This record gives sequence, structure tokens and C-alpha cells, in this order.
Amino acid sequence: MKLSTLKPRLSTVVTQRIPTQQGTERLRGRAAVDRRRRWLDAHPLCCMCQAEGRVRAATVPDHIIALVNGGPDTEDNLQSLCDEHHRIKTAKDLGYKPKPTIGPDGWPIG
Ligand SMILES: [Zn+2]
Repeated sequence: MKLSTLKPRLSTVVTQRIPTQQGTERLRGRAAVDRRRRWLDAHPLCCMCQAEGRVRAATVPDHIIALVNGGPDTEDNLQSLCDEHHRIKTAKDLGYKPKPTIGPDGWPIG
């Protein structure tokens, strides 16, 4: 009697890496942390708040043309933004509608 072999239930997975990253390669690691600190020391205020007549500390060096949209990772493509403006701009860069900011009264601001 000949023994037959069962067909395996599991098949092998393609382990070749599929490139998923789009846009420009960004500075990473210690160099990125140092540049972030230097940038915010030199440009401490949110430029969009300033354009609206407010003064607020910046928390993020933002890429004016987002890396995902092919902007360069260079200092002439950076601007200082607060968390709120960075969230709104990032949503626009990615093609999303930004969530409205909710004020203490429970209604959207702006
Ligand atoms: Zn701001």
C-alpha cells in the first residue's frame, strides 16, 4: 500500500519586503533630535498663531511641504508650529478633513 501525502494547509508567505514608504527620507535618531532642539531654540513661536495675531510657543518643527508630498528634509522647508496648528496642517497634507477643536463650552472653535 502506498501512503499518500496530504497537501499542506499552510503555504509559504512572500517574505520579500514591499516598499511602503512614500515621499522623502527623513533625518532620524540623534541628528533629528538635535536639529529639532536647535530649530525650536531659534524659532520658538508658532508662525501660524503669529499670523492670526496670537503668541503661542511652538512645539513642532513642521515641514512646510510635507515629506510625504515630496518636500525636502532641509531647514529651508521648516516652520515652527504649535500642536493645534500642526495637527490641522498634517490632516490637510494627508488629504483629511481636520477635526474641529472643541472649546470648554463644548462647541467647536473657529
Ligand atoms: Zn499655532
